[in-house]
Amino acid sequence: MNNFVPLPAEEQIVITWPTPNQQLFTAPEKFFARTRVNPGFGKPGWTRDCGRRFHRGCDIAPVNVTSTGQTTRVIFTDCATGKDFASDEPTFIPHDEVFCVYPGQIIEAVTDESTSDFGRHIVVEHHWPVTGVKFFTLYGHLAKLGNGFGWMGQTSRSADARNWMAIAPHLHFEVRDATDNAYDPVKFLKRFLPR
Ligand SMILES: [Zn+2]
Repeated sequence: MNNFVPLPAEEQIVITWPTPNQQLFTAPEKFFARTRVNPGFGKPGWTRDCGRRFHRGCDIAPVNVTSTGQTTRVIFTDCATGKDFASDEPTFIPHDEVFCVYPGQIIEAVTDESTSDFGRHIVVEHHWPVTGVKFFTLYGHLAKLGNGFGWMGQTSRSADARNWMAIAPHLHFEVRDATDNAYDPVKFLKRFLPR
């Protein structure tokens, strides 16, 4: 599945932000996680690996981070030349609480980070009010679950993913339809968040 499916035209719901970062409309540059070299890093769609890999979610940057004072080595790709180069980049730890965007039922709460590229993550089942059809939201790379919902983290079974999250911490937020196709998460947020 390498494209987004359209949101149902007949539905109108009111959602909340999944993090304390409510800056999509006022400061969009603060909304997506980014790296020094990849401004498109956290955006949904064909944003990964110089446009070769499809990103089903959007990566929402934290409001509250602390610097670790340390660096980690990542391999950047210069998309103009296709050349890889190593760089030591500063690392951060996010502290944002993560919220469920719309009432629903938690159907998956994965606490063992080694079982998924999403690390510790939660999947919630919702229903569109007009048709009653299911849809799902996913909250990935959490630090911990429980006590309400979760906290932004940097968990994944992939060491490479953990490395990127160290320099660009984020919540991976995804929205899926009943048959596991992805909606564009930014279109979902823009359409259903109160303005
Ligand atoms: Zn992501």
